[in-house]
Amino acid sequence: MIISVASGKGGTGKTTIAVNLVLALAKDKEKNVQFLDCDVEEPNAHIFLKPIITSSESVEIPVPKIDDEKCNYCGKCAEVCVFNAIAVTKNKVLVFPELCHGCGACTLFCPEKAISEQGKEIGILEEGKAGSISFIDGCLNIGEPMAPPIIREIKRKIKKDYVNGKDNSIISNHITLIDAPPGTSCPVIESIKDSDYTILVTEPTPFGLHDLILAVEVLQKLKIPYGVVLNKCNIGDHKVEKYCKKNDIPLLLSIPLDKEIAVAYSQGIPIVKINSSYEQKFIQLFQKIVQII
Ligand code: SF4
Ligand code: SF4
Repeated sequence: MIISVASGKGGTGKTTIAVNLVLALAKDKEKNVQFLDCDVEEPNAHIFLKPIITSSESVEIPVPKIDDEKCNYCGKCAEVCVFNAIAVTKNKVLVFPELCHGCGACTLFCPEKAISEQGKEIGILEEGKAGSISFIDGCLNIGEPMAPPIIREIKRKIKKDYVNGKDNSIISNHITLIDAPPGTSCPVIESIKDSDYTILVTEPTPFGLHDLILAVEVLQKLKIPYGVVLNKCNIGDHKVEKYCKKNDIPLLLSIPLDKEIAVAYSQGIPIVKINSSYEQKFIQLFQKIVQII
């Protein structure tokens, strides 16, 4: 089964929830657990899980290369490129690799077969182990705007057995946890699509509620079941709780703002390592998800 952890708003504690949930699940020797950090613009789960990285690979997208000998400057490539990554003048084709999404349309439509493709690195993907947890993360190169291709590569690492389980049921002992980027844009959708369940992490503030509502709309469109974890539940107001109640959204877990947790977080120590009662809370969170799906 695949569980993703997302949040409309950044800074709500999404990675904290993902990391603590995977650590609690990994305590059960019968469970095989995989963790994917898809927050490729700012991957930070490794700070808490401290994996031993065993392999690293470059992630590339194909960008066009023009053969001036064959090109007749017809302009078809610029016409089909919806990302404005190609401009054609009277006697020159200009390619802007930083705008190219590697879709291949220009190569396909060039009538003179004057376009070949060359790989352009946009980031790296790493694999390793954090105890019994299989760990994979990706990191987008500085200045690269496109996270989805690297997220797709990370998700290709989901073991086949983990999709709908070995016995073809969604609920199984093979669990992939995905730490999605914050927000509601393309990288989030790429990260959470195909999930069996999504946990939305929010905080009890007007911003938290506003962005939660946006995230809920996305999940409803994707038809993925979801529930909410309320972090720092002892600050702010009760509007998130009221919103969840009114809309029949399960409130899976509430975590108070706690100095002990904050100090441990600043030192890269997960909550379950300093307060064993949280291990049980995260296992109960998982059991609630299992009951729902
Ligand atoms: S479509 Fe092909 S031939 Fe036409 S301008 Fe582009 S590269 Fe040149
Ligand atoms: S590969 Fe796609 S995005 Fe890149 S230049 Fe060609 S048409 Fe444009």
